[in-house]
Amino acid sequence: MVPLSQAKRVVIKVGTGVLTSGIGQLDTTRIEALCQQVKTLKDRGIDVILVSSGAVGLGMGKLSLKKRPKDLASLQACAAVGQSILINTWQKGFDPHNFTVAQILLTREDLRARHRHNAVFNTFERLLAKGVVPIVNENDTVSAAEIKFGDNDTLSALVASVANADLLFILSNIPGLIDMQGTGEVIPRVSVITPQIEAMAQGTKHTTSVGGMISKLSAAKIAQRAGCGVLIGSGQDPELFDKLLQGEPVGTYFEPSDLPIKSHKRWIAIQDHTHGSITIDAGAQAAILEHGKSLLFAGITNCCEDFHAGDIVQICAPDGKILANGMVSYDKERIATNAPELENNVVVHRDHLVLL
Ligand code: GLU
Repeated sequence: MVPLSQAKRVVIKVGTGVLTSGIGQLDTTRIEALCQQVKTLKDRGIDVILVSSGAVGLGMGKLSLKKRPKDLASLQACAAVGQSILINTWQKGFDPHNFTVAQILLTREDLRARHRHNAVFNTFERLLAKGVVPIVNENDTVSAAEIKFGDNDTLSALVASVANADLLFILSNIPGLIDMQGTGEVIPRVSVITPQIEAMAQGTKHTTSVGGMISKLSAAKIAQRAGCGVLIGSGQDPELFDKLLQGEPVGTYFEPSDLPIKSHKRWIAIQDHTHGSITIDAGAQAAILEHGKSLLFAGITNCCEDFHAGDIVQICAPDGKILANGMVSYDKERIATNAPELENNVVVHRDHLVLL
């Protein structure tokens, strides 16, 4: 059973295919149904954050484009046109329930720097305390390849991690994870995403949508590690949340990890970009992996690339295998010059170290 009635905070990701019927045509009935479902959850005291796609699709409609453009500038132009239509649509949908919406547009870069990551968290907290419905999308207009989330499935999992959500709902036109190799039916529950589970995922080839089942599974993994359960289900079902509240099995539920990463370490876990690497000896490897210790200066055998105190680096075993990500307390320069006064110092504190 999906533990929705015990949830305090949920993130709901809605795909373009759910909000539109045909290119750029809003499906108002579906949007009204979703707003009604959000009200049901909020009436039960559950905080709701929406991650809404649709900007590019709506922009395509407004600009009379029949096919999704391939070049970045045209996609960004569509997003710029469509985002205002999207947010207005949500506000109109919530008006009958007297909910105010807030627009939050993010890039990957916003979650890389700790102060920006924390600012996003604080804004969510303040908005939710005021009863507002935050509506998140990627800031497509300024997102170049290196700062892109790539798809809103990944974005929704990162939002669930940042906002400390208990449950993430990834709603699209797909009813759940379908067992293509076996029964052809929706798999109700997954505890760990194994290679066999991944083999069941299939790509999406819709005109407006971006992520397929593969991106949904990798998003589910991010959320599971953050201690957040995930439901992949159909955004076309107007009673999805009512059914879940009544304990009916709907979609595919992915259980949260038994050993979730603690919230103060999550921003380290979600970093896709490190500033360098530190290779350690076998003793330090055992201390970190088996005894949950910090990394001491004495265990370091090599450092690569120019990192600075506060940067995230990879920590590698003697054979080069990446063991962990961690935030360093010293500049590479200082470590590399073998400063004798560092001998017993902590270079990566265990509170700033996430095993991979
Ligand atoms: N941010 C894109 C949009 O609003 C959607 C990306 C996605 O659906 O994954 O159109």
